[in-house]
Amino acid sequence: MAEKDYYRTLGVSRNATEEEIKSAFRKLALKYHPDRNPDNKEAESKFKEINEAYEVLSNPEKRRIYDSYGEEGLKGGFGQGGFSGGFEGFSGDFGDIFGDVFESFFGDASSKSRRRSRRGEDLKFSIEITLEEAFSGIKKDFEYERMDICDKCGGTGARSSSSVKKCPTCGGRGRVQYSQGFFAFTQTCPKCRGEGKVITDPCSACSGAGVVNKKNKITVKIPHGVDDGNILRVSGMGDINRDGDAGDLYLEIKIKHHNHFERNNSDLLYSVNIDIADAVLGTEAEVPLIEGGKTRIKIPAGTQHGKIMRISEKGMSIANSKKRGDMLVTVKVNIPTHLTEEQKELFIKLKESFKKEEEKKQKDDGGFFKKIFN
Ligand SMILES: [Zn+2]
Ligand SMILES: [Zn+2]
Repeated sequence: MAEKDYYRTLGVSRNATEEEIKSAFRKLALKYHPDRNPDNKEAESKFKEINEAYEVLSNPEKRRIYDSYGEEGLKGGFGQGGFSGGFEGFSGDFGDIFGDVFESFFGDASSKSRRRSRRGEDLKFSIEITLEEAFSGIKKDFEYERMDICDKCGGTGARSSSSVKKCPTCGGRGRVQYSQGFFAFTQTCPKCRGEGKVITDPCSACSGAGVVNKKNKITVKIPHGVDDGNILRVSGMGDINRDGDAGDLYLEIKIKHHNHFERNNSDLLYSVNIDIADAVLGTEAEVPLIEGGKTRIKIPAGTQHGKIMRISEKGMSIANSKKRGDMLVTVKVNIPTHLTEEQKELFIKLKESFKKEEEKKQKDDGGFFKKIFN
């Protein structure tokens, strides 16, 4: 195995301060973290490398040995399993590394509550998709702005490492004690807000906040069957605070109006218009499908206006299921408003024909009633 250059891995000089090493590591770890780079082998191995480098350089003793004897020195000197170079090889120290730098950004259960109170803000946006996209599910690029670690100061908020001083009020403890009568209380230091340090000369890019607004682009996987108003949670993609702790991103699904279909949960509603003669005599109608293509339905003779015909399993997809809803087709019968002379005559003839039929019926009924009542 070639000799590793831990300084180069973190992109810092050989005489970098602890603060510089920490901030370089934090930036790189955020960038290459597996949560942000799913299925990216290159990012994963990079992430392992920077962790290994930080593990050594953040520890004054290990750093001293590495500086004098290189990687080999560490293998000899630090018995406990040494550095196999593998991810698992030093996983035991992982919690310590992250606990220190990230305040458990990648959290373990024990520090969840702490994480919750400290992490960056959750963000909420809406994302618009078509009904077809909701039907099939889709991966969509989404670009937005969020607070992220300031590149200039690496999140320290200070112009340089020398402009960070131990807080004079609490002496770096982050908490101050005061007494009232017999009781002693401690509270978060008002001067440094618990940080234990104060910045004498703030970073010019972030004015000391340690974070700045940055564009972020992600690809979100929208599952099939989503409905208007559903909210997707994208974990860790909210604002990042200066400790590298990220909130979540919430995306509300907005489904665009569709030209043909309306949606009722998992059913799709469609309407076909037929003319009066087709309603009376029966016909076939073409119905478009959400997945593309068309199907034909038979409209039987004597179909009434407003009749709903069901085409089963041609509706929307259903979330977390392979099933589909139905398509409900409403038949609308067009009553003609303008008639040619010929059509008008035909309707008059039709009317006379209906009238004759009605009279005949009444006569028959009359005969029937006469028989009963006379
Ligand atoms: Zn800054
Ligand atoms: Zn303080």
